[in-house]
Amino acid sequence: MRVLMIAPPGAGKGTQGALIAAHFDIPHIATGELLRDHVVRRTALGQAVQAYLDCGELVPDQVVLDMVREAMVAAKAAGGGYVLDGIPRNMQQARATYLIARELGMTADVALHLQADDAELMRRLLARAALEHRSDDTPDIIAQRLALYHEVTSPIISWYRDRGILVSVDAMRSAQQVGREILAALEAMRPFLDQVPALARRSVDLTGLGDAFGATGPTAGTSG
Ligand code: ADP
Repeated sequence: MRVLMIAPPGAGKGTQGALIAAHFDIPHIATGELLRDHVVRRTALGQAVQAYLDCGELVPDQVVLDMVREAMVAAKAAGGGYVLDGIPRNMQQARATYLIARELGMTADVALHLQADDAELMRRLLARAALEHRSDDTPDIIAQRLALYHEVTSPIISWYRDRGILVSVDAMRSAQQVGREILAALEAMRPFLDQVPALARRSVDLTGLGDAFGATGPTAGTSG
């Protein structure tokens, strides 16, 4: 099972990503976690990215892409499945992630989109802040991360819809309910995944990403 998740901050990527990984016994590749781990360990990479994390900005694409390539190579050695959590976050990352996966023969089976409204996301993240003290869980920085999601991440969703691999889930409910629905959807797809490898590996027109990203023309109606 190869899943990539697209979700705004607070929608439950981390929780649901861990659930999917445990259920299918596949690696959970969470870019935010990997980056925060570097910051805690005070590695050179951690020191280079800390300011981006603290102010809710995206770290440079190449930094996350290098991390993800390494993790995908390890995932391939471990059997080929994965749950990507936190990437892609913009058009360039969607394109690069696809190319890395294609090169490794492991393009995503499912793009899982978790939907929730901003007020609920803000509420959840502020509740989490009281418990976890993440440096980016302050009202201003949360607002910045939400704005960035709407501006550069959500426009890539239509590309996955066009590829026919998008699964959208209403993430406004409890984590247990959302998790049950996700696993049911993925289990229902599982028998068919082995039957579409040729299709999944077929060359995809990446120029579609250009339209999906910030679409203002005729493709705008297909997004959102
Ligand atoms: P959230 O989705 O709640 O913001 P994450 O743990 O996924 O939480 O990400 C936290 C931070 O890590 C982001 O605000 C950003 O600074 C950085 N980050 C994570 N993934 C990426 C990525 N793919 N590209 C750039 N920056 C990233």
